[in-house]
Amino acid sequence: MTTPRDQLMEKVVALTKRRGFIFPSSEIYGGVSGFYDYGPYGVALKRAIRDLWWRHMVDLRDDVVGLESTLIMPTQVWAASGHLTNFVDPLRQCLGECKKRWRADHVTGDRCPECGGPLSETRQFNLMFKTHVGPTEDSSSEAYLRPETAQGMFVDFKNVINSSRVRVPFGIAQVGRAFRNEITPGNFVFRVREFELMEMEYFVRPHQDDEPFDYWRKERMRWYTDVLGLNPERLRMYDHPKESLSHYSTQTTDIEYDFPFGWGELEGIADRTDFDLKVHQDHSKQDLTYLDPETNERYLPWVIEPAVSVDRILITLLLDAYDEDVVNNEPRVLLRLHPNVAPVQVAVVPLSKKEELIKVAREVQSLLQGRFRVEYDQTGGNIGRRYRRQDEIGTPFCITVDFDTLQDQAVTIRQRDSTLQTRVKISALVDVLRAGF
Ligand code: ATP
Repeated sequence: MTTPRDQLMEKVVALTKRRGFIFPSSEIYGGVSGFYDYGPYGVALKRAIRDLWWRHMVDLRDDVVGLESTLIMPTQVWAASGHLTNFVDPLRQCLGECKKRWRADHVTGDRCPECGGPLSETRQFNLMFKTHVGPTEDSSSEAYLRPETAQGMFVDFKNVINSSRVRVPFGIAQVGRAFRNEITPGNFVFRVREFELMEMEYFVRPHQDDEPFDYWRKERMRWYTDVLGLNPERLRMYDHPKESLSHYSTQTTDIEYDFPFGWGELEGIADRTDFDLKVHQDHSKQDLTYLDPETNERYLPWVIEPAVSVDRILITLLLDAYDEDVVNNEPRVLLRLHPNVAPVQVAVVPLSKKEELIKVAREVQSLLQGRFRVEYDQTGGNIGRRYRRQDEIGTPFCITVDFDTLQDQAVTIRQRDSTLQTRVKISALVDVLRAGF
């Protein structure tokens, strides 16, 4: 069954609050727009996304290494990168009743979409959060919370090539917080002011960017469909026309998803040429060139960058997975999440609280823990209710331990999507579950 598109976001937001995925930040004080906290299942889902990204971008390859740079970086970095002048959004404010601020590129005409009042002229608004390092608050102590992790990879470029065995083409990957003072945060965690970016800078020989650019577009799309299990029909690539490109880019492709509010960017893949290394070399007066051992040439490599936030993937997965159907004449809400990302992959549910059952159920739990993300659910309530709860958080498999288990050393695997139940020997359980992934 499909949920009407106009209700989908509302239903997903309610589910995430009800089941402990996402809460408004500092909610008891009224919350702050554009900031969210992640509860127990949200944390598990985020970790799964982040781990799968790292696994496929770093661990399963031999040409990408990791980096963690600081969240606060000095003004010089942002002056060099162009963010001080270019990381701006056009802002218009309502001069009528509601005084709301709008991104100029999100409104048409000269009237406020909320109250109809007149809109101010457009002014450029820098999205970076400014702070001060040390006890004095003057311009010499100014620093910024990073709006992207990428600059860390560029300013540490020399350190990485001098200390590791990387050879062009190679990548540097980073996962970490980023901050943007978005004018209009919204669509839940799609656009927030604090989020977790996953970025990889893939360095290539100058002018040899087309092939790796195309490779990364396809590879990133493959990851979404084959590893995260997103519906391919809801995904597409959008190649930016030259005139709308960022100041550093010669070609950019967005992987877009068909959100309930329309097609929107899930991930951006940008060809940044040698723009960043060049400006940092100029501003820092440090030699950032790379000596190619194969050609004996010195050059600034060009770079391809796939960039996406964990938060945006998370909301995409939830919207893609949300479903409602009817089982045994009762309506049911479920998340059809791929087992790779499900916050709980296997739930162990003893049929009753009888001691002999609990003992076996705990043994099954320890057999599975460490291999899968496991939840043990012995709470009261009939088994059907516990299945429904697991369906709602997206658990693909429930393992039921019942009185027959004591005789036949077998358990029931109940599948979330089909609600099919099959009997499996405990000794074969791990293999059977693995085959279901
Ligand atoms: P926009 O023009 O929509 O503001 P952008 O093109 O500046 O965004 P990029 O700099 O390309 O965004 O960001 C790379 C990726 O980071 C995006 O594809 C998205 O996954 C994520 N991202 C960017 N801004 C936010 C945000 N405010 N909240 C959550 N994720 C974000």
